[in-house]
Amino acid sequence: MRVPLLDLREQFAGLKDEILKEIGEVCDSQMFILGKKVEKLESEISTYCGSKYSCGVTSGSDALIIALMVEGIGAGDEVITTPFTFFATVGAIARVGATPVFADIDPKTFNIDPVKIEEKITKKTKAIIPVDLFGQCADMDKINAIAAKHNLIVIEDACQAIGSEYKGKRAGSIGHYGCFSFFPSKNLGCFGDGGIVTTNDPERYEKLKIFRNHGQGSTYIHKYIGGNFRLDSLQAAILSIKLRELDKWTEGRQRNAAIYARLFAASKLGGKVTPPALADFPGRHIYNQYCILVADGRRNELKQYLIDNEVGCNVYYPLCLHQQECFQSLGYKKGDFPVSEKTSEEILALPIYPELQPEQLEYVVSTIEKALC
Ligand SMILES: *Cc1c(COP(=O)(O)O)cnc(C)c1O
Repeated sequence: MRVPLLDLREQFAGLKDEILKEIGEVCDSQMFILGKKVEKLESEISTYCGSKYSCGVTSGSDALIIALMVEGIGAGDEVITTPFTFFATVGAIARVGATPVFADIDPKTFNIDPVKIEEKITKKTKAIIPVDLFGQCADMDKINAIAAKHNLIVIEDACQAIGSEYKGKRAGSIGHYGCFSFFPSKNLGCFGDGGIVTTNDPERYEKLKIFRNHGQGSTYIHKYIGGNFRLDSLQAAILSIKLRELDKWTEGRQRNAAIYARLFAASKLGGKVTPPALADFPGRHIYNQYCILVADGRRNELKQYLIDNEVGCNVYYPLCLHQQECFQSLGYKKGDFPVSEKTSEEILALPIYPELQPEQLEYVVSTIEKALC
């Protein structure tokens, strides 16, 4: 049996005719940048995320950068975030000239620990970027309370978390901004790069639209120095079709996670493998990734065994951001964020995409058993 980590071909086959028809329409119109298709998607995403406004942008990375730019965050400012995330979260902070400041994660959710945030606040702190890692919201009530107390902006990196919920609220509607990515491997992916920023604040929304088009208030009149952060019509048209299927796909991922939970509980792997623990989490996990922790220093050995037996898997993320060569100048060292570092040594993502069959999940768990027992 073969179980890929992700295979989008079956998903596309089901929507091919509809998508090709839409692509044809956009080509006939020869209108490729922003326009009606992008406005339609923005309104659909606002509804889906329970947010008042959405602004389509070029990628999830740019969504983070434009939110920081609109807030005027730059040199001399500090932004608190997690060292256990995809590079772009921290890259965005550095690219606007601000200083990333790390706070360690919660060992159960892998998301930033609010208690650790408060210790890192200084006079220079301007914002917090919590990440909803793997599709599970960060502890947003506590983060928002800290932000309100210290007058900080909250930019939710929801790039892996479209449709996830925290106490009944959708990711992207909880902080000042929500940043989403439509990279093909995200739960809602387009056919290239794309992203969107959500906000509930009309003034921030107006600024986002101006910043995404070189800071142009009206044609060739530049109020701010923005950039080209414009979303393509083609991508928006594809995304509008796929968005209609998203809840069905999310349910498929959740069904697979429940099957894994049963299979792990019935296996001989107790103590050797820790599946995601959701008992106390007040929300909806959308499983962009399904990550287990592998004990006894055997993660790399298991990863190789799975690959040799045609089970796709991957490590998100093998090296924390404070340990990356490009961030050496921040002055952190190994041991500064022990929970993040331990997690990066033990974590392993398993196949979870909705089209997987129960027999394939059984094969994944039995192969793990063979490797470790
Ligand atoms: C994917 C991702 C991004 C960046 O999104 P792109 O669209 O690839 O630029 C940022 N943050 C996190 C947590 C991500 O997973």
